[in-house]
Amino acid sequence: MKRYFLSLLFTAVTIISFAQFSKAIIDQKEVKRIETTLSADSMEGRKAFTQGSEKAANFISNEFKEIGLESLKGTKSYKQTFSILSPKAISISASFNGKYIDPKRLIALTCMPDLTITPTSGFRKVYIKQAAELSKQYSDFIKLKENLIVFIDSSMTKTFSRLSARKQFLFKSDKSIVFVLGNFTGDDFVIKSENEITEKRAANVVGVLPGKSRKNELVIFSAHYDHLGIDKATNNDSVYNGANDDASGVAAVISLARYYKAAKNNERTLIFAAFTAEELGGYGSQYFSQQVDPLEVKAMFNIEMIGTESKWGSNSAYITGFEKSDMGEILQKNLQGSNFAFYPDPYPEQDLFYRSDNATLARLGVPAHTISTSKMDNELNYHKLSDEVQTLDLKNMSEIIKSIAISAVSIVTGKDTPTRVKPDLLAR
Ligand SMILES: [Zn+2]
Repeated sequence: MKRYFLSLLFTAVTIISFAQFSKAIIDQKEVKRIETTLSADSMEGRKAFTQGSEKAANFISNEFKEIGLESLKGTKSYKQTFSILSPKAISISASFNGKYIDPKRLIALTCMPDLTITPTSGFRKVYIKQAAELSKQYSDFIKLKENLIVFIDSSMTKTFSRLSARKQFLFKSDKSIVFVLGNFTGDDFVIKSENEITEKRAANVVGVLPGKSRKNELVIFSAHYDHLGIDKATNNDSVYNGANDDASGVAAVISLARYYKAAKNNERTLIFAAFTAEELGGYGSQYFSQQVDPLEVKAMFNIEMIGTESKWGSNSAYITGFEKSDMGEILQKNLQGSNFAFYPDPYPEQDLFYRSDNATLARLGVPAHTISTSKMDNELNYHKLSDEVQTLDLKNMSEIIKSIAISAVSIVTGKDTPTRVKPDLLAR
């Protein structure tokens, strides 16, 4: 009788753990459903601040709810809403020692409708002389949140006009920054700018799976759900579906959330984040990064464009910023004996590490890397209307999502903690 009972118990335990195990899989049909929904024409290209983007956010929220994720501490919704300002210059003028400057040589980034800067306003003057670094320095100076006048050497006229045409959004701040093309000297100067400031609302979608023991140690899985919207100029196909960029990453984030909810092996707290406004300049991830304590974040897996085979073929992907922490080596170690291989980013000249949603936290020292399969030198549908679900290899994509789960195991269970990235102090 006792033996019979024991064997019955054993069978029951086996069935339960098997049921749990079989629930904890990454299912290709599910991946397809999520991918197809997000990249459908009805989502209107998911451009930030549009209805299509809101629709996508609602869909992702529903997925998180069905999986049973919690929302961030102190919030009731998965939506992490924030506002951002869109300044439009009405007029700008400047004179140095009485000499007026062509307004085309000026960019003012400010949240003030009326801005006047004189020598007594306390603006720090800085100079950019190296053409190669202008774009990066431009973004870095904006992030400094300091009152600045930045003089840019006249040799960089071309890049300057590109920056001047760029639509810049700003987080609310009482600090302003003016870029001046040319090395104008003189202690007597006046800069005036008049702006129309519009406030826009956007939302990241964030779900939480609390850790079993190390609740304050966070591991982030993220991707951006926004894309480029609709191109009104074309008739046949006008929707930028963004199936690869980055509905594929969001499909991974949702699938991984379902996987870990069932696997129940996360000693650390897992955060699943779908960012908005990446395509406009990474604003969603910047806001998100300001809401977490970087010291609590032990690792970030940002997932960008995993819908096509990598340059090494199926079942392989690359990690950006491989040499910046030992996280890549940990992932490689966990993949040993599997069918999968992760490599260091083969396109270092493209600076992908600092171009995606991992960058803000990476600059604050977090081992935050992007995983991708995108052939950045030869990805035919990248930022094209043709980035549609039919062009994706959904089988390989599902396998890549599996590989991310396998690669992350020792970090999720708390056995491994990647080394920190060297902080970039300029980007605070
Ligand atoms: Zn992207």
